[in-house]
Amino acid sequence: MLLDYNSLLLAVGFSAACLSLTLFGTWLAARSDRFLLTWAVSVLDVVLEVFAYDAYIQAPGTALGVLTLAVLLLGFSVMLGAAHQFRTRRSPLPLIMLGAGVSYALALPPMALGYDGLGFMLENALAALLLFGTAYEYWRGRAEAPVHLIGVALLYSLTAASFVLCAAVLAWDGRLVLGHAPSNWAEDLSLVIVIASMTGIGALSLALNQGRLARHHQREARTDGLTGLLNRRALFDLHGKMPVSAFTAIVVFDLDGFKAINDQFGHAAGDEVLKVFAEVLSAGLRPSDSVARMGGEEFAMVLRRTLPETAGATAERVRAAFAARTIETETGPLQCTVSAGFALGSTEGMTFDKVLSAADKALYAAKRGGRNRVLDFRLAG
Ligand code: GH3
Ligand code: MG
Ligand code: MG
Repeated sequence: MLLDYNSLLLAVGFSAACLSLTLFGTWLAARSDRFLLTWAVSVLDVVLEVFAYDAYIQAPGTALGVLTLAVLLLGFSVMLGAAHQFRTRRSPLPLIMLGAGVSYALALPPMALGYDGLGFMLENALAALLLFGTAYEYWRGRAEAPVHLIGVALLYSLTAASFVLCAAVLAWDGRLVLGHAPSNWAEDLSLVIVIASMTGIGALSLALNQGRLARHHQREARTDGLTGLLNRRALFDLHGKMPVSAFTAIVVFDLDGFKAINDQFGHAAGDEVLKVFAEVLSAGLRPSDSVARMGGEEFAMVLRRTLPETAGATAERVRAAFAARTIETETGPLQCTVSAGFALGSTEGMTFDKVLSAADKALYAAKRGGRNRVLDFRLAG
């Protein structure tokens, strides 16, 4: 034999153990990514299988045979579960139970009855099925990071294909009873492929996880924690650098008498009011519109492809809807109003800051005029 099967098997065991440790460590550092833990468990299962299988090679027996099959099929079922969890962020348990249940029902009885040849053939076929399923999960989620995820899907498929070969060689052989671990060129090839793909999958998946973390932090840095709207910085990132045309409006909102609400109903009630206003503000937006919490009880809305009349009407709709709303808080129901001012850019284009401060001017005119109203910059005086 060209390759020493046992050394290769040990190599799989060691690299799987390292991968499992790395995954576990990464999970510890970012507890929210539960799929890492599921995945670490599945790889640990592969490590256990390597030892069980190694023992089986030395001393083949029915009990060890059943054990090695059970551990391998469970490991690949958990791997499928982890892939599903990665894609959907849902619990991996139903899929793990389905995978392990079906594969145990098919592969364990022949092994337990002494038909180890049939048992190993079914094991390889079912392992291939579980691995193709895993590849399919990553393939379905490929939109998130196409190059990495298609790579992962290909490597799982390649591994699955090597298990298909193992099953095919055993089927071709046609021996229901072997009396020892299967040993043929397909088994050797499969081990080499497992080592290579495991390394590739490990590297790609950790890079994927890093990317996810980075995107999560980016999103957090752009989002207002209380209302979930964009924050001031995100609004400036989106619009701050482009000249504002005559068809783009900035509307600024400031809740009326908000300090009094805090004083009278408490800070928690004030927070509730802010959330309700964010909800009212976001309702009925077009995809091209953006809304942000600029700080405190001040909000802004950027409307594109709009006219002064539509911008005014949009702001007025928000004002009226908010004023009509009774807000339930822990310290009792309350009502609140909002004032708004808006301005549009110009044909030659104005800076974002300039239009924003024009809208602010209109807002303060609305406040002076008695609050609970919307004012156009051109009428603000
Ligand atoms: P006006 O009608 O003139 O706008 O009066 P106002 O009371 O709304 O204005 P003022 O600027 O005096 O008060 C704003 C208050 O908003 C003061 C501050 O304590 C409160 N505030 C700012 N941020 C938050 C927040 O995140 N939560 C709560 N509950 N209150 C906040
Ligand atoms: Mg204010
Ligand atoms: Mg205010």
